[in-house]
Amino acid sequence: MSILVVGSVALDSVRTPFGEVEEALGGSATFFSLAASFFNRVRLVAVVGQDFPEEHLDFLRSRGVDLRGLQVAPGRTFRWRGYYDYDLNEAHTLETQLNVFEDFRPEIPEEYRDSEFVFLANIDPVLQAGVLDQVRSPRLVLCDTMNYWIENRRDELLKTISRVDYLLLNDAEARQLAGEPNLISAGRKLLEMGPSRVIIKKGEHGVIMLGEGSFFSLPAYPLESVFDPTGAGDSFGGGFLGALSREPEASEEAVRRAVVYGSVTASFAVEDFSCRRLGTLTREEIDARFREFMRITCF
Ligand code: AMP
Repeated sequence: MSILVVGSVALDSVRTPFGEVEEALGGSATFFSLAASFFNRVRLVAVVGQDFPEEHLDFLRSRGVDLRGLQVAPGRTFRWRGYYDYDLNEAHTLETQLNVFEDFRPEIPEEYRDSEFVFLANIDPVLQAGVLDQVRSPRLVLCDTMNYWIENRRDELLKTISRVDYLLLNDAEARQLAGEPNLISAGRKLLEMGPSRVIIKKGEHGVIMLGEGSFFSLPAYPLESVFDPTGAGDSFGGGFLGALSREPEASEEAVRRAVVYGSVTASFAVEDFSCRRLGTLTREEIDARFREFMRITCF
């Protein structure tokens, strides 16, 4: 049973009040793959340029990530530069260099088309729909997006969303997409767009999940040392779908457990810059923090 992810693999330059990194490993598909790799096999489809450091490929391989779907195109790798102020919930983009990402048309290798779980990371909704046309009959499709697509590709995004099982987005995106300031009402409106569940990430304030006749709310794991929130959302997605792919069925209890695993995995990702913490993390640490989460949320 495998998980397919299609998204960005990037070189990120990030500054937070606690330090900075230049051209470090990043990208939505990267964070997702590393996070999900603690639970299941991950197949990655993305593009990098010829300048992409071999050591990053070795790192992804060392986590068991299947890179047969990673295209290496002539040109430079996608680059993102951003910063965070003391409010770590808000990323400020300084520069986005699409480079080889500009002409990226995801081609799902034949051997990936039977993937049972699919994560459509934050890319053009038309490309996300193209991925859905190529996979055969996935058990569950989870879809992410961002403000840029909500503003500039709304109709295409709505079409893609109508074809996915679960929608994952942050609070600002949920309000923007639903055109509704109240987050619960926004979540309800998003459910009407087609997905059977909507998961809304609220950064340090946790996450809510809405389904037909169900509602779940979880605080964020109480961390005192957050260094770099980049990739938190994608790490949540990886932990979530990874854990869910190990469950016999997507029952309410199983999906709730997966939300906790997603939150736990994301809580580690933000403890250091770039993907460093995901590189030293172990499954035992994830499980220990999962148990700790149960203790602090029980009443
Ligand atoms: P997150 O913090 O989970 O929302 O995602 C952060 C990652 O998204 C960074 O590692 C960036 O490289 C990547 N990213 C930023 N802008 C874009 C974009 N326009 N398309 C695809 N990926 C992006």
